[in-house]
Order: sequence, then C-alpha cells, then structure tokens
Amino acid sequence: MRVPIIAGNWKMYKTVGEAVNFVRELAGLVAGVSGVEIVVCPPFTALAVVAAQLHSQGGNIALGAQNMYWENEGAYTGEIAPGMLKEAGCRYVILGHSERRQYFGETDVTVNKKVHAALAHNLLPIVCVGERLEERESGTTEEVVRGQVQGSLAGLTAQQVAGLVVAYEPVWAIGTGRTASAADAQQVNMFIRGLLSDLFDEAAAGAVRIQYGGSVKPGNAAELMAQPDIDGALVGGASLQADSFAGIIKNAV
Ligand code: 13P
Repeated sequence: MRVPIIAGNWKMYKTVGEAVNFVRELAGLVAGVSGVEIVVCPPFTALAVVAAQLHSQGGNIALGAQNMYWENEGAYTGEIAPGMLKEAGCRYVILGHSERRQYFGETDVTVNKKVHAALAHNLLPIVCVGERLEERESGTTEEVVRGQVQGSLAGLTAQQVAGLVVAYEPVWAIGTGRTASAADAQQVNMFIRGLLSDLFDEAAAGAVRIQYGGSVKPGNAAELMAQPDIDGALVGGASLQADSFAGIIKNAV
C-alpha cells in the first residue's frame, strides 16, 4: 500500500516571513488529515526557519528542498551541499526539475550524481521526468521518459529505488493551466512503473511512489489521485496559497 505524497514546489516564491506565515496557516488547515504525506519545498533561504516553525507547531508536514549539488563541500560558489539540507531539516529534495534542465543545464548525468549524493545523506529524492510538447506531439513521450528514468536512476539498488519518489511532469502542463488528462497521466505513470520493474525489480516498482505534476489544482486532484499508478502530486502554482494546497491534499485521500 503506497501512501500518497503531495509536495508543494514553491519555486522562486516566498520570503522568509511569507514562508513562516504560510506553514502556520497550512498546519491549521490540514491538522488531523491522515493517509497522505505532505511536503513543502521552500527556497533555500527559508528552509531553516520553516523547519523550526514546523518543529514548534508539531503535526504532519515535512520539509524538502528544490535542488542541491552532489559534492559534500568545496569551492562551488552558489551551490548547496546535501549535508546542509539535511542539517536544515529536509527530508526530501526535488532533483532534475524540468526548469533546472531547461534553464540551468541539468542533464540525466548530473541528476544521477545528485540522486546518489542525496541518498548517501539520507535525503529522499523526488526525481522529475517528463516530455516537452514537441516530444509528445511527435509520439516520443515513452522514449524520452525511458531515457530520463534510466539515466537519472542509473547505478541505484532496487532497495534505494523502492524508497524514492518519481514525479512525472509533462513540461507542456507546467504552469500552463493545461493538465494532462487523468488517463494520459496514468498511462505514463504506469509505463514508468513497468520500466522500473524491468530495470530493478517488481518489489521496487510496487513500492516506489510516482507523482504527477503539471497544473494540479483542488478541482482536478481527486480524479488524478484516483488513478492506480498516481501516488501523489508535485504542485507548483496551487501550492502557494494555503487554502488551495490544503484542498489538493484533502482531495488526494
Ligand atoms: P504548476 O503546478 O504550477 O503547473 O507547476 C508544476 C511543477 O512544476 C511542480 O514542480
């Protein structure tokens, strides 16, 4: 039985003050909600204060980061190490988001290094994959996703794969208001699970949680989450308001 995981990717939004107010408000809205894991992923600057706030208020919200570098420390100006995220209170880290791939040159090779480094520090990666519009239109979605999954997860053990999270985020659905239909999202998520069974083993494929991301809102969350291979959501825009994020969480269970 896979526990669904709803993660809010705040991207480059929210100051420290806004972040603290947000998690305070969210905690009140989701208090007592069970059967779903809730994660917020603020910008780096807000991680430590959000961790402190989550700790002091108790409850059921976990913390994630949006990216990291793979080295433990060193002369890498502007980068953040896995151990720093762990110390700041993170349990999760989003890796290989399409915006990182598109604007910051991330590749399956660099994502793979980050996945290994995260696991070595007991951070659970949320590994993002997904095709661009032209790839979907040319019928290469599965080929693209296969390459990303294979490349990003290369060299992992089946046991490691079982514990992580994969997020299927079709690039054309991110921030566009254009959600993949529940059937289309299910089809790709099922494809990913089958692929993981081939690449690792059936137990890992059965245990790994595969999210959908791309214009998830309270109004479409229930239908998406009802699909057998969709185990949660990675939410951008609709995770920035506590009431809409709480609505998605409540509609996921
Ligand atoms: P939106 O929910 O704003 O489409 O963003 C999805 C996303 O990129 C989450 O990582």
